Amino acid sequence: MTVDHLHSTHGPVLLGMPVVARPDGFSAQNLGAPSGQAARPDQPGLFDRYGRRATDMRLSLTDKCNLRCSYCMPAEGLAWLSKSQVMTAEEILRIVRIGVDRLGVRELRLTGGEPLVRADLVDIIAGLRQAHPQLPISLTTNGVGLSKKAQALKDAGLSRINISLDSLHPETFAQLTRRPFLDQVLAGVEAAAAAGLGPIKINAVLMRGINDQGAAELLGWAVARGYELRFIEQMPLDADHGWTRDNMITAAEIRQLLSAEFDLSPDARERDGAPAERFEVRRHGSEELLGTVGIIASVTEPFCADCKRTRITAEGKVMSCLFSRVEVDLLALLRAGDTATDDDAIASRWQDAMWAKPKAHGMDHVGLGAADFVQPDRSMSAIGG
Ligand code: SAM
Repeated sequence: MTVDHLHSTHGPVLLGMPVVARPDGFSAQNLGAPSGQAARPDQPGLFDRYGRRATDMRLSLTDKCNLRCSYCMPAEGLAWLSKSQVMTAEEILRIVRIGVDRLGVRELRLTGGEPLVRADLVDIIAGLRQAHPQLPISLTTNGVGLSKKAQALKDAGLSRINISLDSLHPETFAQLTRRPFLDQVLAGVEAAAAAGLGPIKINAVLMRGINDQGAAELLGWAVARGYELRFIEQMPLDADHGWTRDNMITAAEIRQLLSAEFDLSPDARERDGAPAERFEVRRHGSEELLGTVGIIASVTEPFCADCKRTRITAEGKVMSCLFSRVEVDLLALLRAGDTATDDDAIASRWQDAMWAKPKAHGMDHVGLGAADFVQPDRSMSAIGG
């Protein structure tokens, strides 16, 4: 593999550096590509050198967002990409087509930033649906403004929706998101359910001393309405770099917080690479199954070995992992020409990027005294969560 198209935000990243192995197999460099590995075999699909195949594509439509969640963005926002840096609808359709038709992508999640701020969102979904009638297409949104758009998104061909909601209390919601939009989000959730965009998944991040004590209440609200709540462990992807391993709420704590009101028992369904570990939810002393809850323990119980994701940022760069410091530019290649041969070149560059996918992100090694983990420069909003 050549390194001329592999860049981190700090300049070119050279692969195959010597590493000092930790006893448990992790080290700063082997989270990247180990040296001496075979070249990428010539086979279709997005494989990596650890035997994983990516079939789940997360595509960011924009880096802009209308909330300022403290675990993601600074209060003043970020320096947004210019319009010309962001993929157009046509470019998005082409990259997805290459992913689906040539590289075996089997599901697509549209994200951001906040995808609803893109004026052409409905057209993008309609175009994707026309090109890929069977492809599951989901959307992750903060729900602001969703009540007016849910039906149009469904009619355009959106399959499903994930809505982020961290608190049911206006003051807590506003403290976390730095915006007073709770009512809009709740109206958006209802509109999405009414439009048939279910099963509705609700994503929540718990922050110590802010909304952690509302975890069980949020679960009660979700199961009463037939929504699947998923708690996501806070990851070191905040632009303020305020995350600490000691202060984050772990999956174990989340289970503890929920057990104040509910019995959780493992959901027998196959996890099949899904990030959330699911639990059945019952009230104490009751047999009645109320629903399920998911816990995405990216930090403390990582699932890297089963990861099936490939990520494309809003400016058309492949990230093989949320924590990858290597980005591979597909859009520059795509803009250089538009013949069928270029589709081959784009597919091949994408495959190279995924072949170099790190074995694991190494987040839980923060604080062990070694510089195992370096927080990426990009925040979650700038990658596409
Ligand atoms: N704006 C959309 C939304 O709010 O759902 C999509 C993008 S947002 C980056 C996607 C998800 O990432 C949200 O559920 C959000 O809570 C989550 N997220 C953002 N920063 C995070 C962090 N540092 N750790 C864990 N999850 C995070």
